[in-house]
Amino acid sequence: MKLSINGLSKTYSNGTQALKSVTLEIPTGMFGLLGPNGAGKSTLMRIIATLQEADEGSINLNGLDVLKEKKQVRQLLGYLPQTFGLYPDMTAEEMLDHFATLKGIHRAGERKAAVKALLEQTNLYHVRAKKLGTFSGGMKQRFGIAQALLGNPKLIIVDEPTAGLDPSERQRFHNLLSEIGENIIVILSTHIVEDVSDICAHMAIIHEGEVLLTGNPLELIQAANGKVWQAMIEKSEVAQYQQAYNLISSRLYAGKVIVKAYSESRPSEAFQAVAPELEDVYFTHIKEKDLAA
Ligand code: ADP
Repeated sequence: MKLSINGLSKTYSNGTQALKSVTLEIPTGMFGLLGPNGAGKSTLMRIIATLQEADEGSINLNGLDVLKEKKQVRQLLGYLPQTFGLYPDMTAEEMLDHFATLKGIHRAGERKAAVKALLEQTNLYHVRAKKLGTFSGGMKQRFGIAQALLGNPKLIIVDEPTAGLDPSERQRFHNLLSEIGENIIVILSTHIVEDVSDICAHMAIIHEGEVLLTGNPLELIQAANGKVWQAMIEKSEVAQYQQAYNLISSRLYAGKVIVKAYSESRPSEAFQAVAPELEDVYFTHIKEKDLAA
């Protein structure tokens, strides 16, 4: 499977340019689309999911023209939107059965088997008779994946699936996604760096409608080796450091502030080299773009 996006642009009627000539090659496996709120991720996900029109550009999924052959694309697609409505009084089993009917699985026996298998896969079989209104955030998101997997899709799109999940729910959700992502394309849109560093083999950073960087997270981290520096400073020194150095992040630690800088060479005696993380790569590129604007 391969998804090719070429020169995709979208401007909303109020003049917001949500996508600016986005070009991306997305191979089989887990693909992380990482960007801050407002970057254009949901717009891109909805266009790929055939739910929204683009102004310019093309998308090709294994020879299918995604912007034109919507019906065929929908046969191959599973989508978990950022927010999706569930009937709180329906049980997980009833609701998934309903979604399976909508997906075109009309034979009762086949539908029953598919529903059972997906509830098992997403670890919800034991709560199949519970009402969805009683589900935790993590359970709802796993249910969302179960419905996205109906009909054996070849392309799955999940939009901000871990926002609002606690760390153990997020871990569980990561495990589930990485199990399904081996033979199909899974696009995970997120503003959470760990979602990408934990489970994605390929990624892109998107900001203000533009793709800033694409690659393999490990290689992108390696490329930053020797260029990320850290210093522990007083709160009163932060403004001065921001002026003097190319700071990419700061966080409080034991009443002091740990700042990180991106630089080819050691910025000053106060800084120590540290092993780069994906977050450093992310902040560096977002900051460069903001400074250039
Ligand atoms: P993300 O998913 O990365 O947060 P979105 O695709 O939701 O980004 O939004 C990209 C930009 O488009 C933002 O500036 C947002 O305010 C704007 N936007 C999104 N949907 C609409 C809409 N229906 N009408 C006008 N502007 C929109």
